[in-house]
Amino acid sequence: MSTTCLNQANTSSEQVIRRLYQVTNAHNEGFEAQILALLQMGLERFNLDIAILSKIQGNDYVVQYCVTPEAVELKAGDRFTLDTTYCGITCEAQAPVALEYIGEHDMYARHPAYKAFGLESYIGMPIRLNGELYGTLNFSSPAPYPRHFQEIDIDAVQLMASWIEVELIRRQQEEQLNKLNQKLKRLANYDSLTEIPNRRGMYKKLKKSMNLLSRTGGEGTLAIVDIDHFKKLNDTYGHQLGDKALVETAKQISNSLRDYDFVARLGGEEFLIWLPNSNLNGCAKVFSRVMKAIGSIELTEDPITVSIGAYYLGFNESSLPSDFEMLADKMIAIADKALYEAKETGRNKVVTRSGSIEDFSL
Ligand code: GH3
Ligand code: MG
Ligand code: MG
Repeated sequence: MSTTCLNQANTSSEQVIRRLYQVTNAHNEGFEAQILALLQMGLERFNLDIAILSKIQGNDYVVQYCVTPEAVELKAGDRFTLDTTYCGITCEAQAPVALEYIGEHDMYARHPAYKAFGLESYIGMPIRLNGELYGTLNFSSPAPYPRHFQEIDIDAVQLMASWIEVELIRRQQEEQLNKLNQKLKRLANYDSLTEIPNRRGMYKKLKKSMNLLSRTGGEGTLAIVDIDHFKKLNDTYGHQLGDKALVETAKQISNSLRDYDFVARLGGEEFLIWLPNSNLNGCAKVFSRVMKAIGSIELTEDPITVSIGAYYLGFNESSLPSDFEMLADKMIAIADKALYEAKETGRNKVVTRSGSIEDFSL
């Protein structure tokens, strides 16, 4: 190769690398825009018409992204039988496949892809994720490529395919990580048996709701619902049925609440209900609905009953203390005392206390 030729080739490969870097670095554009820019860049580099990132599913070739001239009707989701595409050849290959003047080629002129699509020029590269075939990146044209594909073309396809491979793997891992994070978040904030918030999840929800009430000077009621004689239920029917009773109780409480109320499992057979924006009268109605719903559970001979200790609280328009959990625990302790009284005085009843947020030395 002459020096001029070498210089041209170098400049040209620098251009390819610079463009590729621009495209791959534009994370803020989003994956789809980056892929389309990459396909466009390839078309310009190779002077071809059709660019496709495909996915191979069994013996199907599925278009994922494509850039085509208007006359070519091709869109994402289009499916072909793999054997009828040049990508069938590419998938078998370990390296880029570059075909030109296919009509004059001894072997490929008879290839079904030539017969079906009449593509004269094709350059493609398999995309592999962790060793597994994902699909292909390919550029083609019904017109013959006027020059021979050069080493720099092969390098360009390889570079593009490598970036796509890394990006697809990164996206897969990101998706897995997000799913795992969601799962962990759920596990951390929800009770696995009843699938309602646990104590930790309760603090978060309660804090949000109480913050709102303290800004608007509203009112709210915190109640503890405790199943009566649950130990006896376990002893009589077994722990497994006891678990079922807990699940059913949680469900019945949830179904008896309004949209903005919530229930959490405090532990054992104790549930916490938070009823924002409701006066004592409104709360009494909710409690009687809850007790009736729990009484309808058909797991035991005698209906299940609960005792409820409630603490009604008025808010003034001041902010909550920084140690919110301590405040919540103090409120729970007051509701607990009311619950104790309900238990002591015969169970299957509600005992209510009232107060104001000012009662707490904040
Ligand atoms: P009271 O009417 O005074 O509330 O009596 P109780 O028997 O309901 O209350 P106690 O605190 O004596 O017993 C609660 C029982 O709940 C004891 C414990 O074994 C059982 N328990 C706690 N967590 C679970 C659970 O996850 N599943 C089951 N099946 N039982 C549980
Ligand atoms: Mg109990
Ligand atoms: Mg208890």
